Amino acid sequence: AHVVAEPCFDCKYTDCVVVCPVDCFYEGAQMLYIQPDECIDCEACVPECPVEAIFHEDNLPEEWKEFTALNADMSKQS
Ligand code: SF4
Repeated sequence: AHVVAEPCFDCKYTDCVVVCPVDCFYEGAQMLYIQPDECIDCEACVPECPVEAIFHEDNLPEEWKEFTALNADMSKQS
């Protein structure tokens, strides 16, 4: 699945949400999250993000590894 990482904090452009074919983005208080069970890894959102916050979980920079679990947790609350 794809993961939204730290650059999204307090940004919340929604360019990624618009292009997602399965509507798996969820809006939290501080940033957007991707529901990993719904993401089909189409990559459509990656080039749309103005702050380059979206990565495949396998390519997530080391310092943002915790965002994998955070996306899974936060996207289940709605
Ligand atoms: Fe949606 Fe595709 Fe991005 Fe997954 S990779 S969040 S399915 S646009």
